[in-house]
Amino acid sequence: MPGENPRLTWLNGKAPQDGSYVLYWMDRAQRAEANHALELATFMADRYEKPVLVVLRIGGEEPPITRRQATFMAEGLCELAGTLAERGIGFRVLPMAQEKTFREMLDKALIAVTDVGYLRYHRERRGWLGDNAPCPAVAVDTDCLVPVTAASEKAEYAARTIRPKINRQLDDFLKPLTERRPAKAFSGISLPDGIEPGDNHAIAEAAGNEGPEPVDWITGGHAQAADRLTKFLAHDLAAYDEERPDPNAARVSMLSPYLRFGQISPLEIALKARDAKADSASFLEELVVRRELAANWCHYRDGYDSYEALPDWARATLEKHRGDARNPGYTAAEMEEAKTGDEAWNAAMRQMKATGYLHNHLRMYWAKQILRWASSPQYALSTIMALNNRYFLDGGDHNSFANNLWTLGLHDRPFQENAVYGTVRPMTRSGLERKFDVKAYIRSVD
Ligand SMILES: Cc1cc2nc3c(=O)[nH]c(=O)nc-3n(C[C@H](O)[C@H](O)[C@H](O)COP(=O)(O)OP(=O)(O)OC[C@H]3O[C@@H](n4cnc5c(N)ncnc54)[C@H](O)[C@@H]3O)c2cc1C
Repeated sequence: MPGENPRLTWLNGKAPQDGSYVLYWMDRAQRAEANHALELATFMADRYEKPVLVVLRIGGEEPPITRRQATFMAEGLCELAGTLAERGIGFRVLPMAQEKTFREMLDKALIAVTDVGYLRYHRERRGWLGDNAPCPAVAVDTDCLVPVTAASEKAEYAARTIRPKINRQLDDFLKPLTERRPAKAFSGISLPDGIEPGDNHAIAEAAGNEGPEPVDWITGGHAQAADRLTKFLAHDLAAYDEERPDPNAARVSMLSPYLRFGQISPLEIALKARDAKADSASFLEELVVRRELAANWCHYRDGYDSYEALPDWARATLEKHRGDARNPGYTAAEMEEAKTGDEAWNAAMRQMKATGYLHNHLRMYWAKQILRWASSPQYALSTIMALNNRYFLDGGDHNSFANNLWTLGLHDRPFQENAVYGTVRPMTRSGLERKFDVKAYIRSVD
């Protein structure tokens, strides 16, 4: 019975109306594969002998989707449109600004379904749907393996506190999802015009952000994500634990942009990783525990992107060291132009700008140096957040906010006291050199 499913949250108490279709407002989970919200919409549609209509709305995201991201997203939506059509499901992409059009579509729905994202604008969209749908509205958490509200009822302190809660329930949720075709195909119902799913310019325009240039080393869409996953599991998973800290080895999945746009489900990744020949424990720790800790953070802390949300100990120590000399010190503009005295850092900044991706270890180093050089911890956080979300293809994710704040102590513990950092964990160039060949990395970027 869907009402008892921990993935579901009913958004209002309205009764089904005599509508023409089940409307699924697709939000974060932009895929047809392993999508619990789409399968619920199909289940409901079959029950009422109606078709399914999927509507995706673009605009008002915070931070806004960049032009670089819009291209990646459009590639995914183009594939999605084809897959939905093959399954007899209707599909429209609408600018958020066309609210009247969306209301008219909603008025013809017998039930409305949406999926759960963990940021403020996702919450606002769900609230709006519950209030404005003339029919029952339900939200489905399909982007955490253990639904965020089932994993914990509060903002967790650290990975060590959420890990047992997640791991205890993992087997209950690590179950394949059957993808079904609705019994009734979506046809003969006229729909308003929308954005062409593959039109990256129209998507960028609806998102309202110019942002950096698109990149061509990666293509969006589920098929590409699944292909990348297969190669990673076959060639890199076995070395993941040992070689993960080394950006030169690149034994990582590079699936984060696909996860950011919901183009692949963490369920699909985890099931395939679990069945792989190599040990997947370290990889699942990142994909499930770390990623879902970040979802927990953004879901339960309304100010998930604010300096004030840092743990008390971190704010106290950063304030104590606020007056420490920054030597050298750089402005945000100097850093964005990669004009610091640290060639490894400059290479990371250049790679991030050119490709929209950076290995985790370099992201840590990159952000920790900004904390070292910026004139105050608040300036450091705003610089980290702005650059992260401007250049990374996976920026604007719950992972972005939790990890940006991690730089300043979130989900971490106090370390030995240092200048500027106080007791927040520092990172040094010599520490980087102990982990991998930094000169080879710099050469690989230039
Ligand atoms: C300062 C800083 C900023 C970051 N900004 C982002 C961001 O904007 N968007 C983003 O998705 N990730 C961010 N991360 C987390 C992490 O660096 C990336 O998710 C990871 O490097 C993506 O590469 P991958 O897919 O090859 O990861 P893999 O090592 O292959 O891991 C698989 C998946 O696990 C998850 N994961 C891995 N590391 C982490 C982590 N530390 N926290 C949470 N989930 C993790 C990701 O979803 C990733 O795709 C940031 C980390 C730091 C330290």
